[in-house]
Amino acid sequence: MTAPRFARPRTLDEALALLAADPEGWTPVHGGTDLLVRMRMGMAAPRGLLDLTGIPGFGDIRVEDGQVVIGAGATHAALAADERVRTHAPALARAAGLIGSPAIRNRGTLGGNLANASPAADTVPPLFVVGAEVALRGPDGVRWVPIEDFASGPGRTVRGATDLVVAVRFPAQGREVRSAFERLGTRKALAISKVSVAVAARVEADGTLREVRVALGAVAPTVIRARETEGVLEGAVWGGEVARAACDAVRREARPITDLRAGEAYRREMCGVLLERAVATIVDGSRS
Ligand SMILES: Cc1cc2nc3c(=O)[nH]c(=O)nc-3n(C[C@H](O)[C@H](O)[C@H](O)COP(=O)(O)OP(=O)(O)OC[C@H]3O[C@@H](n4cnc5c(N)ncnc54)[C@H](O)[C@@H]3O)c2cc1C
Repeated sequence: MTAPRFARPRTLDEALALLAADPEGWTPVHGGTDLLVRMRMGMAAPRGLLDLTGIPGFGDIRVEDGQVVIGAGATHAALAADERVRTHAPALARAAGLIGSPAIRNRGTLGGNLANASPAADTVPPLFVVGAEVALRGPDGVRWVPIEDFASGPGRTVRGATDLVVAVRFPAQGREVRSAFERLGTRKALAISKVSVAVAARVEADGTLREVRVALGAVAPTVIRARETEGVLEGAVWGGEVARAACDAVRREARPITDLRAGEAYRREMCGVLLERAVATIVDGSRS
């Protein structure tokens, strides 16, 4: 295999111009924690590596016009530590803090996690439940794509060959709407999730759950919303019969497969367990 050529543009415009001139000839790379592993395993052979680490401000996080805006180059370590992310999307901060190891979290980025389009990508279920959008920038400007429409299958997204993922945004809801993330993985093996569940909801003073969103990772070809489960929880108070009905619903809605990492029945069962943990975190958090 010939070594790929390499470019490290100093501006986003420069990166986009290189990509526009030769879309098939450049593969974006940021942390390299997915791409370099795939290259080493012979699963990817890029002709050129377009290194995005030299673009100033590409990983900035800010709050503007009622939205939290996160640059695609934000590392998982930065997301986990950022006070704005922890306030407005605690599920995302928690998911980022559980990814891989400290080394992976220091290199791996939000943009890479999204563009890689793994059904087990840990940042995606939290982004589903906070109603995030992904910014794609290409020669014709920026378009915002709802996160639920971004991945079209394992390893596939709606990103065009001349686009870069440049940012993610979601409403800055403060602590009004709580969110939580739970995952099951093999920690010692630094393995990706076997199942993950994210939940967001507003909890009224009497414990009634409102604006409930539930998303499941690693149990379908892409991350999915669990709308039947949301329907069970919406307007209900967590506990007893409601908890049982919600766990039954989430097990029905999961569409897992059996693979090397876990069996279908086990994954389905664990969806219920993780849902219980996530909703309990939200309900408990609303009391503190
Ligand atoms: C040991 C290990 C443990 C891991 N654990 C986890 C885990 O627990 N949870 C999890 O979700 N993931 C995990 N991963 C996967 C990986 O670390 C993450 O997906 C990470 O977020 C990838 O980001 P990156 O910047 O390194 O992407 P890269 O490897 O640089 O790129 C990944 C893909 O995205 C594309 N890309 C990158 N940036 C952009 C951009 N801005 N615009 C367009 N395309 C882009 C690249 O072309 C490539 O196809 C693990 C990986 C390893 C090696």
